[in-house]
Amino acid sequence: MRWLKSNIEKISNLKAEGSPESLTYAALECRLAIERICYDRLRIAHDYISQDDIRKWQPKDVVNTLIQEVDSKIAASYTFSIGKEPIKKEGDLTREDYETMEFVPVGSQVGFDPKKMGKLWNAISSFLHVKVPKVKSDRVTEYGDPAALVKKIDEVLAELEHLSQGTLIGSGFGETVSFTCDCGLKIMRRVAFLGEGQIVNCLSPECLESYTCIFNEEDIDFIRNTMRFNCYSCEAEITFPKNKAVKLQKETAEPIPCGRCGETNYIMWQLKQVVKNSE
Ligand SMILES: [Zn+2]
Ligand SMILES: [Zn+2]
Repeated sequence: MRWLKSNIEKISNLKAEGSPESLTYAALECRLAIERICYDRLRIAHDYISQDDIRKWQPKDVVNTLIQEVDSKIAASYTFSIGKEPIKKEGDLTREDYETMEFVPVGSQVGFDPKKMGKLWNAISSFLHVKVPKVKSDRVTEYGDPAALVKKIDEVLAELEHLSQGTLIGSGFGETVSFTCDCGLKIMRRVAFLGEGQIVNCLSPECLESYTCIFNEEDIDFIRNTMRFNCYSCEAEITFPKNKAVKLQKETAEPIPCGRCGETNYIMWQLKQVVKNSE
């Protein structure tokens, strides 16, 4: 990740200035660099995971979700190589075939530990707030302890220096399965990371469709998650994505047009009293 070189230079210059203001600005640049490293992995992975499947937005949580759902090696170090010659043999290749092939390295991904990255992000972020006083004798000041901040900046710089050696970010390997969403978008997922009953959201941020993953003997089905009611005017059945209801705010009427007669129907959350059966 060569772009990190300019971040490293900017942070080093601010650190060299040494004033409380410039050190705090260096801390902000450190935090932005960590976020960009983690979110860059997410951008690459967006072919295989939707924004709605990322449940937590802290950099380390994003990377951990990607490790669990897209590519277990998304934060690992490896070198990607391709064979020098096209494969001429037909059928499956043996281990010996691979061993006699000549490979040319294309680039290297430099990995990192998401937990360590998360800790650094938290530590450096704490210098971007005024500390809340715990007792009356605590002083309230804009800037944190300069020596402690320099120590953290150095830790981030070492990590950035290491990561800047990488020349590519991969989105992983492995068998994929795909289906077409109701909105027309092709959804791809890695088979190894799918589980029975798992909810897969559409990759388009504008689309509310979601699907439940069902494993059959030979293939994987994706069942559209919907809710239904009958049109108040013509009584035709109206089906709509479940997320439309899940994401609906209280006291808001959501319009849903009828596909048959065109009348606009509305849905709204309503409280219901229930009586619990005593056991
Ligand atoms: Zn869609
Ligand atoms: Zn109707």
